[in-house]
Amino acid sequence: MTDPLDEKMVSRVAEMIARAGDVVVFTGAGVSTESGIPDFRSPGGFWTKFDPEDFTITRFLESPETRRKQWRFLLSGDLFRDASPNAAHRAIAALEAMGKLDCVITQNIDNLHQKAGNDRERVFELHGNMRWIRCLDCGERYPLEEILERHRPAVDPPPCGSCGGILKPDVVFFGEALPDETLREATRRASQCALLIVVGSSLVVYPAAYMPLYAKQAGAGLVIVNWTPTPADRIADVVIHAAAGDVMERIVADLRRRMNRCA
Ligand code: NAD
Ligand code: ZN
Repeated sequence: MTDPLDEKMVSRVAEMIARAGDVVVFTGAGVSTESGIPDFRSPGGFWTKFDPEDFTITRFLESPETRRKQWRFLLSGDLFRDASPNAAHRAIAALEAMGKLDCVITQNIDNLHQKAGNDRERVFELHGNMRWIRCLDCGERYPLEEILERHRPAVDPPPCGSCGGILKPDVVFFGEALPDETLREATRRASQCALLIVVGSSLVVYPAAYMPLYAKQAGAGLVIVNWTPTPADRIADVVIHAAAGDVMERIVADLRRRMNRCA
């Protein structure tokens, strides 16, 4: 089941998509590594460069130095802003264009699914989005670019323009709850889909990693495309341990041939 280059598996997934009604794609940091954004846990990943403690909500609230460090990171022109979608994002956007996609549920904060062409109404961002900054006091949301332009090259992060409160990147830090409504809607869609395809996630971060389990429990097919094994491999129908871009591109090409044959 896990031979990485087996064309039969590609074909089997294309057939599953062709037959399925609603397909949900669930993505993690691995879908974006081919765009030059490191994932968190692989060698050279984010956690080898940053201290995870700086991304706990407690430290962020307590330490002006942590907030300054993050402001410097934002000012430095971060890797999220300059990245472009890769073949995997484009293949997932193609699924939507072909009328096969119910939604994308993503743990990513990089905005690349939207940049690739997925309708933002169909992208459920469980961990927020780096393009936005939110005030922790009044909840006002600002585009990151606007705040950067207005305050560059200030050394200290600016306070909220409306209430003077603390501004924080609008992404979920450790110790914070996931956005309520997004989580609820993602859970509903994962539980009702016919097929869920995981692309590039280690499936160890909860509650996000419940999504494939909800789908499987409700009787959906489950496909996992990830370089390394995940805890959900044993319950999946197809597991492909290979690069997301190549695999997703081939699956969509196969699906396109099938759909053209039927047209
Ligand atoms: P993770 O780092 O735990 O796991 C990523 C998985 O992707 C790994 O198992 C790895 O083997 C696999 N992978 C890496 N490159 C791949 C490729 N080209 N093809 C196929 N598989 C590949 O990431 P996660 O599961 O998303 O969880 C970590 C958390 O980090 C998430 O909460 C997410 O919010 C956050 N994060 C987001 C970004 C981003 O927005 N791009 C980047 C880093 C981390
Ligand atoms: Zn405010």
